[in-house]
Amino acid sequence: MNLYDIDVVKKILSRHGFTFSKALGQNFLINPQVCPTMADSLNADGETGVLEVGPGIGVLTKELCRVAGKVVSVELDKRLLPVLDETLGEFDNLEIVNGDVMKLDLRALMEEKFAGCKAIKVCANLPYYITSPVIMTLLESRLPIDEIVVMVQKEAGERLCAQVGTREAGAVTAAVNYYAEGEMLFEVGRESFMPSPKVDSVVIRLKIRREQKYSVKDEKKFFTTVKCAFAQRRKTALNSISNTMGISKVTLAEIFEELSLDKNIRSEKLTMEDLINISDRL
Ligand code: SAM
Repeated sequence: MNLYDIDVVKKILSRHGFTFSKALGQNFLINPQVCPTMADSLNADGETGVLEVGPGIGVLTKELCRVAGKVVSVELDKRLLPVLDETLGEFDNLEIVNGDVMKLDLRALMEEKFAGCKAIKVCANLPYYITSPVIMTLLESRLPIDEIVVMVQKEAGERLCAQVGTREAGAVTAAVNYYAEGEMLFEVGRESFMPSPKVDSVVIRLKIRREQKYSVKDEKKFFTTVKCAFAQRRKTALNSISNTMGISKVTLAEIFEELSLDKNIRSEKLTMEDLINISDRL
């Protein structure tokens, strides 16, 4: 069954009475090059378990089943379950789980489904409305995963993989950088999807560090500081932190001085070390 053939896809979907839900970020891939490349970039083998978020009609899932020992794919939309039965019925290394990836106990799911796997990876064409929450949940929960290869909106990808201390950086850049190395893999144009979205996409890789690179006194405070530093991007870092964290400007000015940081510096110029030093002193 050629799932890249628009006529084939339309026939399957209409037979199941399926209509696309914008709210669930349903833009299905129809470019035959993207899914095999994503799956191959995982360097998976028979002992690798792959968690997919949102299989849609199963284009990427199929490729993941080709490269990995076991694939578990979480789909929220119940209407897609009979479709997936039809498109992926032939694979015995696949399990579809009906649920919301943001509500499932992913640690328990991985322990149960990937017992015996030597490596666990996450691969998905993410529903764009939950890109950052899914990525942050995967990272913050310190799940036993090696890497995340996902397609996201181009702008989000640029931010996720940016260097901290550059214009493209935001709060999520620092948060991701705390746990992983980000890498931009390739671009995917909007015409590669059905229906076609208004923006282009990119596939990125987040390689999770085995050894912690940064050490902070209080992780919760660090993430709050980062969020507050970038909350008012047009203001200086000092003002943004002061306004959104409720800390007096005088106290912050003292901390900045102690750290030899210009009081007028913008958050996009702060390095990981600067952000850690500020948070450690608050
Ligand atoms: N993987 C398919 C592809 O590349 O063509 C579909 C990708 S589509 C961008 C996103 C998929 O995620 C849809 O199938 C959608 O129903 C599913 N989805 C949306 N929100 C979800 C959630 N919270 N948990 C799990 N799946 C979700």
